[in-house]
Amino acid sequence: MEMKKKHLKWSYKIIFSIIGLLFIKVFEFAFLNRVIHWFWKIPLDSMGEFIGIIVTILILLPFIIIVLNQRIRLEGAEEKYRKLAYYDPLTGLSNRRYFEEKVSHSLMQDSKEGKIGAVIFIDIDGFKLVNDTYGHEIGDSLLKEIGKRLLASVRKEDLISRFAGDEFIFYLPNVDKASVLIIVKRIIEDINKPFVINNNTILTSTSVGISFFSEKRKDIKSLLRNADKAMYKAKLHGKNTYEIFNEDNEY
Ligand SMILES: [Mg+2]
Repeated sequence: MEMKKKHLKWSYKIIFSIIGLLFIKVFEFAFLNRVIHWFWKIPLDSMGEFIGIIVTILILLPFIIIVLNQRIRLEGAEEKYRKLAYYDPLTGLSNRRYFEEKVSHSLMQDSKEGKIGAVIFIDIDGFKLVNDTYGHEIGDSLLKEIGKRLLASVRKEDLISRFAGDEFIFYLPNVDKASVLIIVKRIIEDINKPFVINNNTILTSTSVGISFFSEKRKDIKSLLRNADKAMYKAKLHGKNTYEIFNEDNEY
């Protein structure tokens, strides 16, 4: 999608340049050379042609600047819209929509290449209690800090998004089961470390559900649903732990 957009931008630029050059040439030959010849009595030679080009550019310059300026503003607005549509303003992470679009695309490619990996669903334990005890502002700050820690605990190629409320989702491509478990254990440990927000020390934990994908299982909606189910099982097993979704053992 990005590539296509970039390609489109470049083709616009090339078309715009060609039209601009043609316009300069036609304008210069048909009109300006004659005007300069008549006005300054400069003969119709290469010097007259050169001055013609300069004058034409000077006349066209404001229009070119206006068009480019509008284009830049439009791109800025598009970027802002893209951010609003795909990002979570509180944590600065991408949102569920971005995750689903991006991952369904990557899953197709990764599973075709025989790569395996996991979709992970995490929920903060007792988050409602934090909101009730300290207020929503502290609750929001806690979510921001959790987002930062989560981001720091995964690899560069992993994708993390805020799903909703105190729920976060991960896409870990190209990893085996053992490596996924190492990452998940690290996430659980990282969230267990105390958070200090406005002089309040807040202790929390997280319940994690893991759903592995393969050539057969590559539909993002069901992977998320399965990871969510596993996460609830982790909650039932006393929280601050993880569970792996198992098809033979649906819960
Ligand atoms: Mg919760």
